[in-house]
Amino acid sequence: MIYKTDYHMHSSFSDGRSAPEDYIAAAIASELSEIGFSEHLTLFRELEGWNMDPANIPAYMEHLDWVRKNTNHVRIRTGLEVDFFDGKEEEIRSFLSQLKVDYIIGSVHYMGEKTVDFGPEFYKDKDIDALYESYFNTVCNAAASGLFDIIGHCDLIRIFGYKPSKDPEPLYRKLARTMKIHNVAFEVNTNGRNRPLADFYPDRRFLNIFHEENVPVCVNSDAHMPARVGQYFDEAYELLRYTGFTEMAVFEKRVRKMMPF
Ligand SMILES: [Zn+2]
Ligand SMILES: [Zn+2]
Repeated sequence: MIYKTDYHMHSSFSDGRSAPEDYIAAAIASELSEIGFSEHLTLFRELEGWNMDPANIPAYMEHLDWVRKNTNHVRIRTGLEVDFFDGKEEEIRSFLSQLKVDYIIGSVHYMGEKTVDFGPEFYKDKDIDALYESYFNTVCNAAASGLFDIIGHCDLIRIFGYKPSKDPEPLYRKLARTMKIHNVAFEVNTNGRNRPLADFYPDRRFLNIFHEENVPVCVNSDAHMPARVGQYFDEAYELLRYTGFTEMAVFEKRVRKMMPF
C-alpha cells in the first residue's frame, strides 16, 4: 500500500461542512495513512465566514488532540492554511511562532482587498497578463518568506479559466526555483477539478518544471466535506509518477521527510 497523505482539509472550524471527526471514515476508505486539517487563517483582513477566528485556535488544537486520541488506522496532523500578504511577513511570523502545528500551508487568495477565487467578476476588465505576473510574484514572495512548509494551489489565478496571452512557463520556472531554494513543498491540489477550472492546480503542463527543479510535492484534496477527502488521488499520483516524481513530502512538527510512493 502506498503511504498517502491528505494535508489540506477544512472542517467546520473554518468553512468546511463537518466536524473533524467526521472526516476519519472517509480517510480510511480512501486508504490514507495520514490526514491533516488546515483551517483558513487570515490576518490583516476583516474576519469573514470562511475564516477561523484566531481566538478559536486553542479550541481547534484541543479538538484535534481529542480526535487523535480516539482514532486508530490513520494519523491526524494539525495544520493551518494561512493567507500570505506582501509586506506582512514579520507580523505573520511572530503570530505563527507561538503555534504548535505539524505544518503550515501558505496560500495567496487575496490580491488587494479581493480574493481571486470568489467570483469571475474579479477578472473583468483586468489585464490578465499583468494579473498573472503579479499573482506569481506574490506566491514567490510567500515561498521565499520562510513562513510556510507547503504552498497551497500555487496557480489559483487559473480558477475561472482566464488565460494569459503570453506563455506562462517562465512564471512557473521562477516559482519552482524559488520553492526549491527556500525549501518549500508544492501541492497537487485536486479540488480544482470541482471548481470552474475543472483541473488540478498547478497546471499539469508545467508539472515537469517542478520535477526538474526538484521541488518536494504532496497531494492534497482541499476537501471542505468528508466525501471529497482523497478525491482524484489515483489520478494525481499517476500524473506525478508519469512526470517522474518518486517521493512525497510528509510533515510532523514542521519537520519534513520524504516517503517513496
Ligand atoms: Zn485555499
Ligand atoms: Zn484550502
